[in-house]
Amino acid sequence: MKRHNVRNLRNTVWMYFVIFISSILILIWFSFVVSLESNYKNIKTKNIISIASYILNGWNQDDFTSDKLDEIAYANDMCILIQNSTGYTVYSYDMMANNCLIHGIYGLNLFKYRAEALASSTGYFYAEVQNPRFNNDTLLFVMVIGSREDPEGYIYLNTSLVPLKSTTDIIKNQVLRIGVMLFVLGLVIAYFLARLIESPIVRITRSAKKLGQGEYSEKFDGKGYAETELLADTLNYAASEISKVDSLRRDLIANISHDLRTPLTMVKAYAEMIRDLSGDNPEKRSEHINIIIEESDRLATLVNDILDLSKLESGNAELNITEFCITDIINEIMERYKLFSEQKGYTFIVTAEIPFMVQADVVKIQQVLYNLINNAINYTGENKTVYITQIIKDKKTVRIEITDTGEGIDPELLPLIFDRYYRAEKSKREVIGTGLGLSIVKQILKQHNCQFGVRSEKGVGSTFWFEMEGYTADENAEI
Ligand code: ADP
Repeated sequence: MKRHNVRNLRNTVWMYFVIFISSILILIWFSFVVSLESNYKNIKTKNIISIASYILNGWNQDDFTSDKLDEIAYANDMCILIQNSTGYTVYSYDMMANNCLIHGIYGLNLFKYRAEALASSTGYFYAEVQNPRFNNDTLLFVMVIGSREDPEGYIYLNTSLVPLKSTTDIIKNQVLRIGVMLFVLGLVIAYFLARLIESPIVRITRSAKKLGQGEYSEKFDGKGYAETELLADTLNYAASEISKVDSLRRDLIANISHDLRTPLTMVKAYAEMIRDLSGDNPEKRSEHINIIIEESDRLATLVNDILDLSKLESGNAELNITEFCITDIINEIMERYKLFSEQKGYTFIVTAEIPFMVQADVVKIQQVLYNLINNAINYTGENKTVYITQIIKDKKTVRIEITDTGEGIDPELLPLIFDRYYRAEKSKREVIGTGLGLSIVKQILKQHNCQFGVRSEKGVGSTFWFEMEGYTADENAEI
């Protein structure tokens, strides 16, 4: 799988490189080899026209001496002949030692060309004519001086056209060579480029494989490009989250098995005790049976907590929203804790007087209150006091606070305690806990879009709070 992908990336880079280099070569080929000849002739023609025009312009001016014409002929490697209207030679310069076409040893019919120029609307005519002696192509050019109807004279120019075949052959050869070199160079560059691009990907893939095998400490390294670095950062984040969840899951299994084993051992021990010892003693028997029942309740609570949380987390728990008075609910719950406080010596200080109406799932909100109060009972200090306070913040918001006087929570643990399965080591508990209580609270409050949180001070105690939207049933109540 991995190798397949890597090869694909390399092939792609190669392919683009080959396309790129081929296009450059084709471009070079066309501009140098194919169009060189026609370009050359074009330039040559344009050049000859501009020289002829220059001569034409200067012709009548005083300072336009024959020296100047010599200079032009010499500089442009051409023969010049200027005739007056009757065909009489006014000026002549031969660069080619009588091998020039217009200087006449070949009997070239200049009249024919002159007639063409006179017939042409531009006033000039040019043609490629072969030099019979050297068999090379030359450009012959005629331009009418003055108007075509009443010509004052004629300018003849003749220049040889450099045979380009040898030049194009050289260029062809050169282009081919450069092509091969570029091609090889391109392949090498493409190879290293592909390696360079794929190297962070290969590294990340290697790390991902390790992560898949459970090595959560594996660090992803995406150095090289912003994108791969971002990918590596994201994967590092994911790995740390997975590792957290994994260790929490392990903790949960350890906690749950521990919590399941304790009541089961008790149930078994007391059942055996009834069988062997107290079966005939009604008083002892009922005491032992009660313990068995209590322990079974513990088991049931634990199993229910696990089910609740998995339902809440999977999003399958639907809210059954009704309108109710949260103040009444608090007072009802505290009524139930009354027995507990009497038996175990706890003090509950409840401040919830002004009725406040909210819309929520009453059973779930009760569960939140139970979980928070049970935690406060578990962790409160020597004075065994728990405060339950209802604060009406404004007419639309109520805040419920559950405060204990326990040892408080380490600031670094505060962000963790609402996490699934998180549970600090604690030996003795008054109320059974599974380490799931606060995660259930969090899920329920999140589902209700409630604000919630905790503040805690070491040695003073902790306050868990949540807020709900609603209204005071008593409009005149003083807040
Ligand atoms: P449990 O109480 O069953 O362990 P919870 O999810 O209710 O599970 O709580 C998670 C952890 O948060 C507890 O183990 C405990 O360490 C800490 N905690 C919760 N409530 C309090 C509190 N009122 N005071 C101190 N620590 C608390």
